[in-house]
Order: sequence, then structure tokens, then C-alpha cells
Amino acid sequence: MTATEETKSLDFIRQIVTDDVNSGKNDGAVVTRFPPEPNGYLHIGHAMSLWLNFGIGHDFKGHTNLRFDDTNPIKEEQEYIDAIKDDVRWLGFEWKEPEHYASDNFQQLYDWAIKLIRDGKAYIDDQTADEIRETRGTLTAPGTESPFRGRPVEENIDLFERMKQGEFPDGSRVLRAKIDMTSPNMNLRDPVMYRILHATHHRTGDAWCVYPTYDWAHGQTDYIEGITHSICTLEFEIHRPLYDWYLDQLDIAADQIRPRQIEFARLNLNYTIMSKRKLLQLVKDGHVDGWDDPRMPTISGMRRRGYPAEALRNLCDKAGVAKRERVNDIALLEHSVREVLNKTSPRFMAVLDPLKVTISNWPEGEVDQLDAVNNPEDDSAGTRQVPFTKTIYIERSDFMEEPPGKFRRLAPGREVRLRWAYFITCTDVLKDDQGEVVEVLCTYDPETRGGDAPDGRKVKGTIHWVSVDHALEAELRLYDRLFLVENPGKPPPDAGTDDFLSNLNPDSLTTVKAKLEPSLGEAKPGDQVQFERVGYFCVDTKDSAPGQLVFNRTVPLRDAWAKLQKKG
Ligand code: ATP
Ligand code: MG
Repeated sequence: MTATEETKSLDFIRQIVTDDVNSGKNDGAVVTRFPPEPNGYLHIGHAMSLWLNFGIGHDFKGHTNLRFDDTNPIKEEQEYIDAIKDDVRWLGFEWKEPEHYASDNFQQLYDWAIKLIRDGKAYIDDQTADEIRETRGTLTAPGTESPFRGRPVEENIDLFERMKQGEFPDGSRVLRAKIDMTSPNMNLRDPVMYRILHATHHRTGDAWCVYPTYDWAHGQTDYIEGITHSICTLEFEIHRPLYDWYLDQLDIAADQIRPRQIEFARLNLNYTIMSKRKLLQLVKDGHVDGWDDPRMPTISGMRRRGYPAEALRNLCDKAGVAKRERVNDIALLEHSVREVLNKTSPRFMAVLDPLKVTISNWPEGEVDQLDAVNNPEDDSAGTRQVPFTKTIYIERSDFMEEPPGKFRRLAPGREVRLRWAYFITCTDVLKDDQGEVVEVLCTYDPETRGGDAPDGRKVKGTIHWVSVDHALEAELRLYDRLFLVENPGKPPPDAGTDDFLSNLNPDSLTTVKAKLEPSLGEAKPGDQVQFERVGYFCVDTKDSAPGQLVFNRTVPLRDAWAKLQKKG
């Protein structure tokens, strides 16, 4: 640990783990797990869980398992499993090989279910799903016992085996734990352990016609894997007594590891949805271009957009581990992204909305190669050459014919600095029939090569530019927030409406054709750059090709988070 890590106070989960280790529990072993259900791609909320589980596994010299909670064959696909493994690795986390699957334990779970039946702790219920729901009671009224609750053990075992063999149709019977229909905790009112599903599972094929519920599989799987600390989100707090009850039925010896469940608050971000069901809907209905659309809050989307893995880990660290639900500002994520990119991204010049400038006293055909610093934050990044010629592009917004007082850039009679090049002064303006400025005429001062005047004279503005003769064309995809409101899909008064699709930002993607300095011709898919004064961009990994460059805007330069902090 570094000095700063040592002085930072422990979050409440690390404190619990520290106390367990110090007390000699489990002989000091620490094993955690990340248990995604493979029914969608990972999102930024999952990054929090990864960061926490893998961070604890690492800090306490233990390890972390990757476990696919694949108990529902209907919603799960191999594509998701592959994508999840990819994303976890990209985020920089290494699970202990091999990865685990809840389905690896189907036989063991079944055998334990038989044990529960034999012990009089589980029974087959022939009621329909509706009947079971209706007899469960409410928060204030107890439930009613099923008429099948008293079934003899041998009959239960016979029925359960025949359910497994596929003798009965879906939904006709379930296996329920026999706990307490009057418990104030609804989860203990004879919860369902198995349901009949004639579905092909991505790993076990057609071997099973019954599948365990998440609640029955989860704690037992933790136990089988020797998980010491089972970290999950707050909604499972109310399930903990049930998980404990199930573990109690397994007669775990005193010297064996029994998983300890600890709950924490989900990571939430404003302007963002994290429900996999809703994210899937965005993909299926074509509101975005796939799970890895750069506007998606998925890990793969953020990666494609150019968010560095380090920035996502830093976000989790900054947001911290909390016991109560809260919503973090998305500006904090964008701030974390800029913090990393500022250190690592080479700078280039790109003009998004080009206006032609002709330097009237520049010799026709002459090219001056000027030195440009690649990254002022990193000397080792060196310099490159940028060609300067008689006609250049500048940003249309950097010129005004009749500038207001505060405007510091180019205007008739005004002198500005061209980045890395010369001082130029505007002498004339050319317009088309509609009166729109189509070209600006300037003179340059040969004494100012490199960007400084030997006589010490100052200019108010520095603008970026690209040589017309050397300019590369590129498509720039400018991404904005996917949703217009802080809390998409939440009914009023929570700002949004109850339909999250109506909160979609119709302008979340705009595309421009930009002019780039020629050294960008060597940019490779995934390369990260800063276009000076414009923002951070990366070369798109899917659609960019040599001669047909496509850049995604990762973040604009302006840091809303830093501003918020200054305001206090
Ligand atoms: P959904 O409810 O949308 O299906 P989920 O939370 O059930 O999502 P899982 O695949 O079960 O998705 O999640 C894997 C792990 O990631 C779980 O341990 C879960 O608690 C955790 N997780 C999911 N979302 C968040 C979040 N926003 N913040 C922190 N941890 C999360
Ligand atoms: Mg889940």
C-alpha cells in the first residue's frame, strides 16, 4: 500500500473485512465474487461492484471469482458472457481462472433440495403462480398455507423427480421451501425454489426441466465457491434472512467457510439509466446503435467512446461505498475522464466548421513546417511538424466581422496568434451573394514564427488552424447526453415522466465533416487525442478506416465538475 492509501479511511465494507481478518475468521482468507446474470452487457454500475469486489480481493491478498448467475435459461445468451469477460478484463480486473457458472452446481443444488424435502423443509405445490401470489399475504396481513403443504415426503420426492424429467408442463408445479407463511418478512413465506421450464440452457442443454430460483441458487453457490464476503446491493438486505435459513439447512461445519453477506448502495448517475431491461429496449428498438453505442452507459459503450478504464475505476473511488441510495452527478464521471485524458492524450488541430483564410503576403506554393508540442503535460511525448501554407482553415466561430467587446479572436483590423505558427492580421473579408463571409484575407508577420513577437507585442487570442492543401477530411461524431432529464423515466415530481423513452435527447448525436492536420493520417482505431480548444476524441473502433477517418467525441474540454467545485 502507498502512504496515501494507508491514510485514507476504510469504507464500511473494508472495515468489516478487516475486522474479520483480524479476528482470525476463516483463517484470514478473503474470497469475493462478481456475479453478473448474463442477460445484458455490463454498465457503469457494474463497474462499481467490480471495483469493490476485485479491490477487496486484491487488498486482502485473497482472490475474486467471476461467476455467471445463469439460472434463467430464457434470457441468457453466450454473446453476453463473452462481452462481460471482455469488459471485466478491459477494466483491469483479473478473476481467478476458471470462471464459474451457477449452472455448474445444478446437480448439487438438486441434491440439497432433495435433502430439504427429506428433512420436511420443502414441498411440491400444485397451485398456479397466481394462486401462490394471492395467498402470500401482504406486508400487514399474513399469508395462507398451501393445501399441498402437508404432502408426504415420498410423494414430494417422486413429483420432484418427475418434474425434473419433464413429465409436467411449465407452470404446473413448483418446489417451495416450508418456512413460515406468517413471517413479517415476505421472503420467508414459503419461497419458490424450483420452477418447471422446458427450455434449452446455454450450458446444460436439455438435461434439466426444472431450474432453481435466484434466491435458492445464490447463497448456496457462494458457499460452494468458498466465498467469505458476499457483497451485494441493498435490495438484497431483505433476502438475507432467507439466504441464512437456506445455509442453516446445509449443516455447515464450524470450521467451514460460511459466506457473510454485506449490502451497499448501488451507484446511480443522473441523466443515466442502468436497468438492463431498459438498456435492452434501447438496443432492440434501435434507439441506439447496439450495446456499445458510445452514448450507452455500458462499459463497452464507454470504451468505444474513449473513456479510459482508469477513469472508470477512479470514478468508483471518488463516488465511494455508501450505505444509503444516492445519485452521483454525471459531471463527476466526465471530470474523471478528462483528468486521465489530459495527461495521456496527444494534442492536434482540427477545424470543425471551416472558414478559409488567405495570407496575402505569403509566397505562393511555399510550405513552412512548424514544430508543435504534442502534449504540454508530458515532455516525453515530443514534438511533431505541422505544415503552414498560403491558405488555411480556421473555425468559423473564431472570426466575427463586427465583434462584441469581449471577443478576443479574429476580426477586421485585429491581430491574433495562429497556434504554433505566426501572428496574422485581418485586412479584408470576401462575401457571397447572400452576404455570408466566405473567405478572410490576412497578412502575417514573418518575425513571429513559432508564435512570439520579438518586440514583445501581445495578442489577445490564439486560434487553431489547418493548411488547406494538407487537410485530411474526417467524420466527427459529437455525442451529447442520451437523456434530457436528470431522472429519466421517473414519474413527476422527479423531473422526468414515467416513460423513459420520451426523455430521450433527439440531438444526442450530431455529425460534422472536419478538416484535420495531416499527421492524424496515422491515427489507429482506439487512439485517443485532444483537438485543441475543441475536446477529447478517439478513433472509432468499428467504423474508422484508412482514408475514411471517424472520430468519436469522448468529452468536450469544459469541465462542469471543476466549475461546480469552485462555486462550492
Ligand atoms: P438488473 O436489475 O438491471 O438486471 P442487476 O443488478 O440484477 O441488474 P446483475 O447482472 O445481477 O445485474 O449484477 C451483477 C452484480 O453487479 C450484482 O452483484 C449487482 O448487485 C451489481 N450491480 C448491478 N448494478 C449495480 C449498480 N448500479 N451499482 C453497484 N452494483 C451494481
Ligand atoms: Mg441481479
